[in-house]
Amino acid sequence: TTVLVTGANGFVATWVIDNLLQRGYSIRAAVRTEAKGQYLLEQFNSYGAKIELAVVGDIAKETAFDDAVKNVDGVVHTASPVHLGGGEPNEMIEPAVNGTLGILKSALKFGNNMKRIVITSSCAAVKESGLIKSGIDETNWNEASILECEQKGKNANPLAMYSASKTIAEKRAWEFVAEHTSERQWDLVVITPPWIFGPPLHEVTSLEALNSSNMYWYQAVFEGNYFGQNPENDPDHGWVDVRDTAEAHARALERPAAGGERIIVCAGSPWVWQDLRDVSKGIQPKIRSTGTTFNVTKEHRLLDLQYKSLKECTDDILAYIAKKGW
Ligand code: NDP
Repeated sequence: TTVLVTGANGFVATWVIDNLLQRGYSIRAAVRTEAKGQYLLEQFNSYGAKIELAVVGDIAKETAFDDAVKNVDGVVHTASPVHLGGGEPNEMIEPAVNGTLGILKSALKFGNNMKRIVITSSCAAVKESGLIKSGIDETNWNEASILECEQKGKNANPLAMYSASKTIAEKRAWEFVAEHTSERQWDLVVITPPWIFGPPLHEVTSLEALNSSNMYWYQAVFEGNYFGQNPENDPDHGWVDVRDTAEAHARALERPAAGGERIIVCAGSPWVWQDLRDVSKGIQPKIRSTGTTFNVTKEHRLLDLQYKSLKECTDDILAYIAKKGW
């Protein structure tokens, strides 16, 4: 059984690949360039021919995956721009939407063996920024981020740009599968994780090159700030360990009942960034009675994950950083 994993050199995807290889799958790893895949091949070389590269170029080009989907049984689509650097909203929205629609279109045309497509969306597509509410579930959509980008353009908050890119991409995906029900023999599962932290398995050449979410973790823990704010005062939404995120994708791929479902995967909420600092120093974080919480009933029913604790996640990142000498 072969699974196509997109954004294969990324933080989440590398753990997904590790998980799927251990389960016995063969992996076709989609990367932007040949060079971006070399580290993956070296890293997983003990699996021999069970991992191969598919060079797909820029995913903003809708035909990018036409060849990559041929003869694979499933897809885990993680590729999407992940940063809060601002710019024009479309610089994020376009690759996110085209990449997501592109994989579905390619699967429809050329996915001769396709059975299931799992897409990594985000709680940024579920919950709007600033909304503090308990028990947010999969029926929620971050419409506010789309509106903000429409109204403010390049002056929109960078978080709204990222959130809009994820929200629009996911909405279009569900629309697409609904429109093509009779033509497809595969189904869709969408995983929406909140902040994902954990020790990187992907190639990180320097601290500056760390993936975005771990970079925010690093800034909170070592520099005591989060977007220039006091980490004590900023109630954020949930978090989850990257290895549990990978396991969620693997189970989403395998479990028949997950088909057609949008699933929130969240280990902990509510929390503030100070909690990361506290845990990193061996201090028990305060119990937070207010803040956003997610309802993970559906995840428990369909995926039944056992989540790593914030301490385990934190300790493993600290060990990684110590090893790197940063
Ligand atoms: P990374 O930045 O580590 O990985 C993103 C991957 O997407 C990279 O392989 C990148 O390739 C690829 N990619 C992005 N834009 C393009 C493009 N235009 N053309 C080709 N490839 C592209 O991010 P993560 O692993 O953290 O994120 C993976 C997924 O998980 C994303 O969909 C993200 O939205 C979602 N997610 C992440 C969370 C987090 O906290 N990290 C939280 C919730 C969801 P390249 O290296 O060549 O740029």
